[in-house]
Amino acid sequence: MTDAAASKPSLPTYADVEAAALRIKGVAHHTPVLTSATANRRTDASLVFKAENLQRMGAFKFRGGYNAIAALSPEQKRAGVVTYSSGNHAQAIALAGKLLGVPTTIIMPEDAPVAKVEATQAYGGEIVRYDRYSQDRLAIGGRLAAERGLTVIPPYDHPHVIAGQGTATKELIEDAGPLDILLVCLGGGGLLAGAALAAKALNPGCRVFGVEPEAGNDGQQSFRSGKIVKIAVPKTIADGAQTAFLGDLTFPIIQALVEDIVTVSDAALIDAMRFFAERMKLVVEPTGCLAAAAAFTGAVPVAGKRVGVILSGGNVDLASFARFIAPAG
Ligand SMILES: *Cc1c(COP(=O)(O)O)cnc(C)c1O
Repeated sequence: MTDAAASKPSLPTYADVEAAALRIKGVAHHTPVLTSATANRRTDASLVFKAENLQRMGAFKFRGGYNAIAALSPEQKRAGVVTYSSGNHAQAIALAGKLLGVPTTIIMPEDAPVAKVEATQAYGGEIVRYDRYSQDRLAIGGRLAAERGLTVIPPYDHPHVIAGQGTATKELIEDAGPLDILLVCLGGGGLLAGAALAAKALNPGCRVFGVEPEAGNDGQQSFRSGKIVKIAVPKTIADGAQTAFLGDLTFPIIQALVEDIVTVSDAALIDAMRFFAERMKLVVEPTGCLAAAAAFTGAVPVAGKRVGVILSGGNVDLASFARFIAPAG
C-alpha cells in the first residue's frame, strides 16, 4: 500500500467538490437536466432529472474516477492504479486512466454484467476476476497494490471520488435552481455523500434522501442505528447498489447531512425503467432508477415539491434491458 492509502484521509468538504469541478471541466460531460410533464402529473410534483446515464462511459462514476486519478502525484500516475468494482467504477477508472495516460488494473466479479466487462476491457483496463460471494476484493486489491506499487482507488470510500461525484449535484442545482428535495441512489454512498455536500452548500434548505434496493438496506440500517451495518451481498437487479456496507468516509457525511434513507423494490425499478424508455426515450440501468422509483412509489413523499432526481447510469446490456421492459404475461 502507498502511504496515502495507509493513512486515513480526512473527510472531503464542498471546497473539494469545487476543486473537482475544475479538474473535470471540459473532460466530463456537463449532462442535461430533463423534465417530463407525465412524471410531474404522476407524482403531483415538479421533477428535474439529472441525466448521468448520458455521462461519459454511461454513469456519474466518471466524475469521481477522473478526479481521483487527476489528483495523484506524477510518481503515483507513472506506477498506475488498481480498483475493484461491480462495473461502472471499473469503466470510469479504465477510461480516466486512458485519458490521463495512467495504467489501470481492475478487479471485477465473475458475474459482472457482460456489457460492463467488455467496456472496461475496451478502455484498456487490465482485468482480474474474483468470486464476489466467496472472495474479498479488498484483500485482492491490497495484495496487487503492494506487489506492483499501485495506488488503490476504491469505488466510493475516497475523498476525491466523493468530491467528484458531488459535481453532478453542483451542476444540477446551478442549472435547475433551488430544490426542496434531492433523491439520490445509494450503494456505498460516494454519490450520496458528494451530493449532500454540494446540496447543503448551495441550497441549505434542500432535504437529501438516499434510496436503496429493498433487498440490500444496509445503508438504512446503518443510518438508523448510528453505526455501519454490514450485510451479505444482496440479490437485486440494482447491481450498482449491491454493496454490503457504507464507507468510513461516506457514512459520517451521510449521517450529518442526509434526511433519511428509504428503499424500493426491484418491481418498482422495472416500472421506472419502462417509464424512462417509453416516455423520455432514455435507457436507465436498474440502479439508475432507484431515486426516481422513490418519487414514483411515494417512498419519499414529493407532492407539491421541487424535486431533483439523479439518474445515475445507463449501462445495461440490451438483452437484459429487453427482458426488464418486456410487458408482463
Ligand atoms: C455506483 C453506482 C451507484 C451507487 O453509487 P455509490 O457511490 O456506491 O453509492 C448508483 N448507480 C449507478 C449507476 C452506479 O454505477
